[in-house]
Amino acid sequence: MTCPIQTLPTEVVNLIAAGEVIDSLAAVVRELVENSLDAGATRISVAVWFDLWRVRVADNGTGMDLTDLQKAASAHSTSKIQSRDDLYKITSLGFRGEALHSIAALAELEICSRLTGTLEGWRCAYNTQGETEGTEAVAIAPGTVVSVSNLFGKWRLRRQGLPSRSQQQRMVQATVQNIALCYPSVTWQVQQNDRSWFTISPGKTAQQIIPQLLKQVRVHDLQQLTVDVPTPEGGSGGAGEIRELTYNSILKTRHGASLHLVLGLPDRCHRHRPDWVKVATNGRLVRSPELEQTILTAMARTLPRDRYPICFIHLQICPSQIDWNRHPAKAEIYLHSLSYWQEQISQAIEKALRIGAENFGTASQSHRVGKLLTASAKKGVYHLDESPKQERNTSDIGLVELKAVAQVRNMYILAEHDTGMWLIEQHIAHERVLYEKLRDRWQLVPLEPPVILNHLTPVQLEQLQRIGLEIEPFGDQMWAVRNAPALLHQRDDCADALLELSLGGDLQNAQVATACRSAIRNGTPLTLDQMQTLLNQWKMTRHPRTCPHGRPIYLPLEESALARFFRRHWVIGKSHGI
Ligand code: ADP
Ligand code: MG
Repeated sequence: MTCPIQTLPTEVVNLIAAGEVIDSLAAVVRELVENSLDAGATRISVAVWFDLWRVRVADNGTGMDLTDLQKAASAHSTSKIQSRDDLYKITSLGFRGEALHSIAALAELEICSRLTGTLEGWRCAYNTQGETEGTEAVAIAPGTVVSVSNLFGKWRLRRQGLPSRSQQQRMVQATVQNIALCYPSVTWQVQQNDRSWFTISPGKTAQQIIPQLLKQVRVHDLQQLTVDVPTPEGGSGGAGEIRELTYNSILKTRHGASLHLVLGLPDRCHRHRPDWVKVATNGRLVRSPELEQTILTAMARTLPRDRYPICFIHLQICPSQIDWNRHPAKAEIYLHSLSYWQEQISQAIEKALRIGAENFGTASQSHRVGKLLTASAKKGVYHLDESPKQERNTSDIGLVELKAVAQVRNMYILAEHDTGMWLIEQHIAHERVLYEKLRDRWQLVPLEPPVILNHLTPVQLEQLQRIGLEIEPFGDQMWAVRNAPALLHQRDDCADALLELSLGGDLQNAQVATACRSAIRNGTPLTLDQMQTLLNQWKMTRHPRTCPHGRPIYLPLEESALARFFRRHWVIGKSHGI
């Protein structure tokens, strides 16, 4: 039997609303930390006691005076927006004025705060309605300390429905780490049960933060890039102001947008899950399946099979470009002018992957040497396109100047540049060149006479047709193939190549297979001119670091690392040529 429809008592409404904002210890941490960041804090310490359902967040932000402190936890109280118009230009993380109020409803809340520039600090405790229950003066440094205890103490059932303790630990850790990526200039100290749990030291950008979170990644494995981008036309509310965090966390406002990218170089690091494809907008990590897909597409065919990139993108954009109404907890967004931002991201990734003079750091060679693979050493024909048509002026786009000086074991090109030398594996460098050409233009040319293939299965036939080949029956279990990829058509092993193509995969796979078959084999002697041509073509590719199978193409031996190895800093004497 159902009851008649009734309006719920305010107290119950408040509780339900509170439970939507605060659904875990991690949510408490998120809300408190976001408040600290909104208050301009540069040092934030978080302490969690999981068994006691307790969290304490202390910051060195602006703090509050007594009047504000007394209002902080009352319903819909915020210092961040004042009017309806402000809603369209929100630049702070909070604005709804309901986090502290919700926390007061679900836990015991106490805040100590001292406004910067004043001499007195205050402590306030709040009741479940968020009203001040007791106030006293305390001696504290400028900033704020918020203590939340006994979360869901009066709603034990809520605790039962929550994830396990170890999951909650992971959630708290992920919450802090994700926020730290967006605010790299903040120092984080995180404790668990009164013991240090982890710390994050400040950095100029997320490039210095990621290696602290992923132990196997080093700063030099990452490439970062910040580009200013004009705000596209359209979106509601017109151009607004964007808050930008500088190194010192000084808040500046400016017009226009920026894109910050930190990318794991594909020859140095990748993951077995797409868990480090992260997008943030205006200081908050968000899920945006479309932008995540853009990142994966931009990195396609640069990583080994089933591996995923490490990529963090932070868009600082006009608030009117973002529609938060995709998810109640603001965890997913819609972007206005989505394709515009996708294009910006693709371009930024392409730029970061280039081998520019400013783009490479000193990699640790010994680490890389172990990873070098021995490639096939079969001799064979190859097509090294000597035409200079592709050769743009490389210094124009900041690419490193490479000079071929020798061939080593008929396999590696030794190239010299201003600050060191590289070993480039000739086969896969050429494979990368050919693959990108094929991506740009999958050219099929007539075969005269046609190539005859035997015993094709229906699946093989279909595959050959899918990649654009003209093929017709030629007798019992025989087919005539009337055209072929330009790179293959004059090869002696054209029939073998076509059979290989019939064995599966999409057009991209066919292009990889064609490039691999046509590229210079290891074991083939090359002249200096041929090597130079190959180097020039290779460094102009969009993804020069890895071959389409994800293998690294070059091993850098930078002068700085060589000097260290040869102990050039030892002062021995002039006779040693130092
Ligand atoms: P919101 O963040 O949406 O404004 P909250 O309930 O989280 O709402 O906080 C209410 C108000 O309390 C904030 O607007 C801010 O003025 C103040 N406040 C909360 N935490 C801090 C802090 N750590 N430092 C300074 N002021 C704070
Ligand atoms: Mg808040």
